[in-house]
Amino acid sequence: MPEADQAFVTLATSDAYCMGSLVVGKCLRKHGTTRKLVVMVSPNISREARLSLEDVFDEVIVVDILDSRDRAHLFWLGRPDLGVTFTKLHCWTLTQYTKCVFLDADTLVLCNVDELFEREELSAAPDPGWPDCFNSGVFVFRPSLETHSRLLEHAKMCGSFDGGDQGLLNAFFSDWAIKDINKHLPFIYNLSTSAVYTYLPAFHKYGHQAKIVHFLGKNKPWHVPYKQQPSTEVTQWDSNRILEQYVNLWWAEYYAHTKTHVDEPDERHDSE
Ligand code: UDP
Ligand code: MN
Repeated sequence: MPEADQAFVTLATSDAYCMGSLVVGKCLRKHGTTRKLVVMVSPNISREARLSLEDVFDEVIVVDILDSRDRAHLFWLGRPDLGVTFTKLHCWTLTQYTKCVFLDADTLVLCNVDELFEREELSAAPDPGWPDCFNSGVFVFRPSLETHSRLLEHAKMCGSFDGGDQGLLNAFFSDWAIKDINKHLPFIYNLSTSAVYTYLPAFHKYGHQAKIVHFLGKNKPWHVPYKQQPSTEVTQWDSNRILEQYVNLWWAEYYAHTKTHVDEPDERHDSE
């Protein structure tokens, strides 16, 4: 029996990020999730982008862009675009669900990860840059209007130490680092591609266990042109080649035909 009160949630505020969200949704379906799929989008996305998301997701919810208006801090990070990630906080208003897993639009789901719903709020994996902070690209949460307004209040009073959602969420769920090890997701649920460079031997040993890859940072797979040649085996442990393989896989999923909503017959597409 599918758990209709639990959902995977992602977010896209531009057509480019919609490409990422589409891949998130397609991969979750491909790997047979029993949970609902929700994408939050901003009003500016194109009709085409919206239609393709509607094909894969159970709900496409339009939300307003919430900017942290904290340009100074964002400037430190060199990522003025990240203010928009405050829009992520809207996910706490999805109270039609009791528990959700948020996935950044730049994640690539490699297998079924429904077991994440066994975790509690706020579960997340360590950030590769500062492992006492969690990375907010993948996290388990419980929608609640109360938590949502407390988060907004916190943002208003204290801002965010990195100008984005991750700083705010870490300050808010401040005992994550030490309180409950069950809330520490294994790194394989949020394997940031930068780790391939920073700790190649660990990637060599554990990389094959990866369940969710995260294209964290400025370079996203949709910025890299799709090379249609078949992927060759990685014979050498070359970081660039490993990343290229993940990007190729991302594009393959982007173009893959997906059996959409589980209970609908597949002929839908053939008759169009
Ligand atoms: N996002 C978006 N539009 C933007 C920037 C970010 O929709 O212009 C959303 C998207 O879901 C994205 C998430 O916010 O995955 C976090 O941003 P990003 O992944 O770029 O940050 P990083 O993981 O690289 O720190
Ligand atoms: Mn991300």
